[in-house]
Amino acid sequence: MDKLIFDIKEKKNFDINLIRKEFPVLQRTVYDKPLIYFDNAATTQKPIPVLDTIRNFYSKVNSNIHRGVHYLSDSATSEYECARRIVKDFIQAEQEQEIIYTKGTTEAINLVVHSYGRKYLNPGDEILITAMEHHANIVPWQLLCEEKGCVLRIIPMDDNGDLIMEEFDKLFTEKTKFLSVVHVSNSLGTVNNVKYMIDKARAIGAVTLVDAAQSIQHTQISVKELQCDFLVFSGHKIYAPTGIGVLFGRRELLEKMPPYQGGGDMIRSVTFEKTIYNDLPWKFEAGTPNIAGAIGLGSALRYLHTIGFEAIKKQEDELLEYATEKVAEIKEIRIIGTAKEKTSVLSFVLENAHPHDVGTLLDRDGIAIRTGHHCTEPVMRRFGIPATSRASFAFYNTKEEIDIFVNSILKVINMFS
Ligand code: PMP
Repeated sequence: MDKLIFDIKEKKNFDINLIRKEFPVLQRTVYDKPLIYFDNAATTQKPIPVLDTIRNFYSKVNSNIHRGVHYLSDSATSEYECARRIVKDFIQAEQEQEIIYTKGTTEAINLVVHSYGRKYLNPGDEILITAMEHHANIVPWQLLCEEKGCVLRIIPMDDNGDLIMEEFDKLFTEKTKFLSVVHVSNSLGTVNNVKYMIDKARAIGAVTLVDAAQSIQHTQISVKELQCDFLVFSGHKIYAPTGIGVLFGRRELLEKMPPYQGGGDMIRSVTFEKTIYNDLPWKFEAGTPNIAGAIGLGSALRYLHTIGFEAIKKQEDELLEYATEKVAEIKEIRIIGTAKEKTSVLSFVLENAHPHDVGTLLDRDGIAIRTGHHCTEPVMRRFGIPATSRASFAFYNTKEEIDIFVNSILKVINMFS
């Protein structure tokens, strides 16, 4: 039962060659070229320990959880709940009851909006979000505003992609009841000072949510330090499988929130007259969950723990700095997102070439980048562009890969000039 708990104190030496060997997909070729995977902000690759965990689960343990009396069901339940404790430790939450498994960030935000928002927000209440939110932290709030007559207020940003904090301060009024902010922008790489924002919101009793989809994989997050009410992230962006995510919620709030979905597992007893809901965290986990995904998430977090965020951050910061310097030398390129503090996201536009053409041509050189609005259409509008090309780095990437990427961009420029 305890075998998956965070018990590893020692850190691996950061050896990039060994690390790359742990990600099988990085060994493959695309169009006979070695794959260069720079689409990590969209989803990350999976290391062998995570792949082994999932294979092991389906080949040796597979069974439904919680309801069984037999050996396999008991083992599956243990591993599923053990992974929850790993998540709890990873984000320094106090109780397992505060960790709800979801499909991902999007579902976690929808859960908060539909459960907390519908019950506790009222007409005229103001919800603050930033100008750089992913659509997942815009649209659910718009749906709520339509239904309940709440008002969405937007914290603006400057031309670098930094939030304008003086404007943020001014937006706060006694009507502000909820602050829902992205920690790191997926299209700009900006790291927001969420601690400052949370402190400010707490001072007036507003509830806070942090979208950590793009920060959880780059830096140590402590909900204890942040003092946020909710924090959400997706497993697939932190080297775990798709279809699993996490909602952290402060217990006091989760206890008073109504269930988001009804069904099996979220109940203690059902009669046609009255249903009694299950305890936390299961009150919010209706139906058969993504059991293998949760266990895979636990495995991914353990794996990251052995590398350590110090080494991860050092490698990723170096990659971003190196790539930014190289790309900034190219006069046909405009970098979108030049905030003071950034994670490893490099968004850019090229004179005369549409991002989709850039992405398609780079693909032919085996380089995977993402092009489009990155589910942040308001960000594109703010910068007066339809789309960007975005390279996003993980700790398994190298400067040699960046050199090939820059040469490939130069080829595209030649082609379009
Ligand atoms: N927020 C941010 C900042 C993101 O980058 C993403 C994914 N691109 C999401 C929310 C939504 O995550 P998911 O699609 O995994 O639910």
